[in-house]
Amino acid sequence: MNLRKSSSSLSNPQRRLLLRQGGLLLAVVGTAALVTAQADDGMLSKASVHYQDKPHNGQHCSDCAYFIPGPSVQSPGSCRLVSGTINPTGWCQRFSS
Ligand code: SF4
Repeated sequence: MNLRKSSSSLSNPQRRLLLRQGGLLLAVVGTAALVTAQADDGMLSKASVHYQDKPHNGQHCSDCAYFIPGPSVQSPGSCRLVSGTINPTGWCQRFSS
């Protein structure tokens, strides 16, 4: 197919094919984005939620509804949403009070 043709010079079947290919490309890109958002354990990766080891605007993991505390107040815990060890003073975009 010649992609240099303007859309007005395309026939209906050509337009349909072009739209179908565009839709397929969007589906592939969207699926790839979802896959990279998940860590190996199926939870959200730290990178996908912009996790950081320090508080953000007074919010921190130990005050978050998803935080699972460690053995002591200051020891690392875990999270119901985000994969890996979570610092009680950390924060991510999924913070929920
Ligand atoms: S959702 Fe984010 S802010 Fe809340 S405990 Fe998990 S990592 Fe911390």
